[in-house]
Amino acid sequence: MELSGLQIFKYLPAAKKAEHTNCKQCKCPTCMAFALKLAKNQVKISDCPYVPDELKEKFEQAQKLPQKTVEINGLKAGGENVLYRHEKTFVNPTALAVVVDVAKTGYEEKIKRLENFEITRVNETFKVDLIILRNCNRDIKTSLRCIKEEDFLKLPLINAGKEDFNATAKNLINIRKKAIQEKDDKFSDPTYVYFKSSLDIYEVCAQASFYICKYANMLIFEDFDEALFSTLITLRQNIFTDPQKPLQVEPKIYEFNNPDENSIIFMTTNFALTFFAVANELENLNVPSYLVVTPADGMSVLTAWSAEKFTAQMAAKTIKKFGLAERVKNRKIIIPGLLAHMQKELQDEIEDFEIVVGTREAYEISDFVKNL
Ligand code: SF4
Repeated sequence: MELSGLQIFKYLPAAKKAEHTNCKQCKCPTCMAFALKLAKNQVKISDCPYVPDELKEKFEQAQKLPQKTVEINGLKAGGENVLYRHEKTFVNPTALAVVVDVAKTGYEEKIKRLENFEITRVNETFKVDLIILRNCNRDIKTSLRCIKEEDFLKLPLINAGKEDFNATAKNLINIRKKAIQEKDDKFSDPTYVYFKSSLDIYEVCAQASFYICKYANMLIFEDFDEALFSTLITLRQNIFTDPQKPLQVEPKIYEFNNPDENSIIFMTTNFALTFFAVANELENLNVPSYLVVTPADGMSVLTAWSAEKFTAQMAAKTIKKFGLAERVKNRKIIIPGLLAHMQKELQDEIEDFEIVVGTREAYEISDFVKNL
């Protein structure tokens, strides 16, 4: 735990009304000013000659990094500072690694499958993070990051796997708590869990999903399964997004299936998850369409409306800025069903277009368009 200014102040002469109170030797006007600056690391603890040993120890402990980071050819594992993402953010997504046994026939095909695997979601493209080469005494050519097993085993990582799921889950939670809350050096290395090939794929998926949430820094699989990795990467992306940085896309007019001046027009905000949900539907419709994306600081439709990031004036301004009226002859804009209460307000502001209330959910768009 970091020390606050007040926690530091309690140990200084001014708090104890002792000799040297506010003596300014630290070049701060008061002990309180020094304490506040020290909490922000703007001064050194050695600047005050009257800091007691107890505070020195507490401060040193507070300065220690909770979890170390291990780097494998550019892949970072560990380095986490919090137990829960909402406290700040998680740092390095759980790495997903696959073992390739070079002594087994067919290993080249396995490497090819690993190289060919790729998933793009919410503007990010993911591949397998690491190949661990077993029984390998030569260089293997692959476009993916790889490490020989003997070198991997020398890394400062904790194998958190136990006899069963319950024991492993408890162990992972215990290790992370010791590292974060107690800054215990014995538990500060990143953790991994190993999945043998004999396990049922659904069991592996359920267990691995839990371990991504709590608290494996790396998962290693003997078997590779594209569907499993797609599922785990999707979950991982959700868990490891920074809650302080909303996922957003560029506000502009997006085109689907070569629209012309008579194509249908949808509108939404620039929250990435909303955008990709709607964009996916429009892409698969096989009907030419436009999607007007308004700037809303990456907020979803209702959040943007309640935070006044989506107003009738802003929507009108966006349409004008992108020259929609000049681009199309169609004079109807379909707004999200969640904004039905804004229809009149939008209509008053956007004179060139008729405002039509669309669906509340993206998956309903297909039926909605068929009935237009
Ligand atoms: Fe207070 Fe120490 Fe600074 Fe003197 S040197 S003002 S005792 S913090």
